[in-house]
Amino acid sequence: MTERNPCGMTEGNPRGVTERNPTGGASQRRAGFLREMGLAPLWKLRKATPSELSAPTPKEEIGSASHVFPEPSGDRTASIAAMGWDELRASVASCTACELCQMRKQAVLGVGDLSPDWLFVGEGPGAEEDERGEPFVGQAGKLLDSMLAAIDLQRGRKVYIANTVKCRPPGNRTPTPAETVACWPYLERQIALLKPKLIVALGKPAAQTLLQREVKVGEARGRLFEHDGIALIVTYHPAYLLRTLPDKAKAWEDLCFARATLRKIPGPAPG
Ligand code: URA
Ligand code: SF4
Repeated sequence: MTERNPCGMTEGNPRGVTERNPTGGASQRRAGFLREMGLAPLWKLRKATPSELSAPTPKEEIGSASHVFPEPSGDRTASIAAMGWDELRASVASCTACELCQMRKQAVLGVGDLSPDWLFVGEGPGAEEDERGEPFVGQAGKLLDSMLAAIDLQRGRKVYIANTVKCRPPGNRTPTPAETVACWPYLERQIALLKPKLIVALGKPAAQTLLQREVKVGEARGRLFEHDGIALIVTYHPAYLLRTLPDKAKAWEDLCFARATLRKIPGPAPG
């Protein structure tokens, strides 16, 4: 059976490793999918940091990935890595691990389906997000919602939305490396609990945090990366798209690519 999708492509049966590896677990099948897409072997630069990266031209890509950000403190990272959702929520709400705590009205953990296919990661809360406690509810959020709708997605339905830092950087400036490092254990724990099939990094700070290397969005888009065994795609941040309308078409292509990729990723084993 073929089906017409909103990206204007005709797709047949998704060809995944399910067919070839019917007895493996979901994560094995996903790893198999990544291998099939030419993203293996995977290598780990450092455990428990967002440092796994592979890409279609891996030799050129490794670079000095482990030096992009300094190490977060081990004890705090380990304690966050053991938290469930309630603890995580409480911990973020009272966190003082970086200076962004001083100016926030409230921390913004994330929103959506706790068993999502998709995880969208932005930069950090803006004024409206800080006010309302939910990510992407301002102008950029409206555009994100339209982008989701364009590929038949909806906030909260198989979609989770989070940010690289949970507290608003003053004046909506880009979070500093120190702030990003301080907040990383929370996003890392969210990813571990959510186990999304696909991560979409919205803009450079999210892409760099998740891939642990310098990223140029214009060069990274259209390519399949992985973070901790999860497929990862980079596209423009909606706030950038609001300022740069011609690149909206490129973001649309990226979402179509993401959707086609996700359709090939095997889901959990039935039963
Ligand atoms: N921009 C982001 O990166 N995140 C938000 O939550 C809102 C705007
Ligand atoms: Fe804590 Fe993250 Fe907020 Fe910094 S941005 S205070 S690390 S929750």
